[in-house]
Amino acid sequence: MSRGLPCRASVLTGLIATDRTQNAMSTIRALQLIADRQVALSEPDAPPPPAADEVQLRVHTVGLNHIDVWGFRGMAFAKRLYPLTVGAESACEVVATGANVTALAPGDRVVPYSALTCGTCRACRRGMDNLCENVAGVRGFHVSGFAQDLTNHPARLCVKIPQSVDWHDAACVAVAYGTVEHMLFDNARLEPGEWLLVHAGGSGIGSIAIRIAKSIGCTVITTVGSAEKAEKARALGADHVINYREERFEGVVRKLTGKKGVDVVFEHTGADTWAGSLLSMKRGGRLVTCGATSGPIGNLNLMQLFQQQYRITGSFGAPMSALARGLDRIASGVRPVIDTVYTLADFRAGIDRLESRDVFGKILIDL
Ligand SMILES: [Zn+2]
Repeated sequence: MSRGLPCRASVLTGLIATDRTQNAMSTIRALQLIADRQVALSEPDAPPPPAADEVQLRVHTVGLNHIDVWGFRGMAFAKRLYPLTVGAESACEVVATGANVTALAPGDRVVPYSALTCGTCRACRRGMDNLCENVAGVRGFHVSGFAQDLTNHPARLCVKIPQSVDWHDAACVAVAYGTVEHMLFDNARLEPGEWLLVHAGGSGIGSIAIRIAKSIGCTVITTVGSAEKAEKARALGADHVINYREERFEGVVRKLTGKKGVDVVFEHTGADTWAGSLLSMKRGGRLVTCGATSGPIGNLNLMQLFQQQYRITGSFGAPMSALARGLDRIASGVRPVIDTVYTLADFRAGIDRLESRDVFGKILIDL
């Protein structure tokens, strides 16, 4: 099935020439899930020229996220058909535009929004894209994703990349920066000067949350699982770093905050940290969560919830506006921590590395 790794330049030159002449189909490279936990480099047909209101994108870099690990595990609730091209997060170049597309032109660099929203429902019209009532799926999860040389995408679901932002940094925006912006600001309403607890400071979103919160003048406490990661988290700017394997983090948080607790908890680890996260908040504190990497079930003491006047918010994805803010944040110098960049041929190592949690920052795949 695989023809190995063709020279990218020649393949793309061939494809672009094909597109221009709208001639016979060629093939592209695509990273496809062919069964649960089985990913293969395939060569499907190149996409047709973009339809009206669509653009054709040449994918430069794909960012890996936990949504990809769920995808590889074959989540029971995800309805989809194999083969499925993976990759929810990417940075791309526009190579062709369909009819009616005026806001984008070939050569523009964009971050495509991963969810295929309707654009017309009440939520979409109000800019709450991740609450779309008629979403057709998330690319790379329910429907074909971005880990392929070329793909067509609705033009309205593309966010332009500022000139000063490079491909690798831009490939951390559609999921990671978007998620963090939405969690910290739209949901938790984090303000300068507040105390924030960030779990798993070495993770893709954890490391970004630390940098963003520090850039607006917050005091950041973070948890990590090793001495090596503790050092890196401090270098990122975290004010206090707790090795959760050595100390109960909630006890340390209460000590650091004079028994008051933090204003905001950034949760995504779930079962292992849930109870401690609730105990780490001050009265009226806000907890925002977007994940459950250690398990999905946590207890909630309702007396504690109402007496302490906690606000707990679930957060999934982000509106397009959060992607634009994330790109501006990078342009202003709040850049992502990039752990490793793999080639398409080495994607398996990237997934293994993400799953092993032996990672500090984002894992990317260059096409
Ligand atoms: Zn909608």
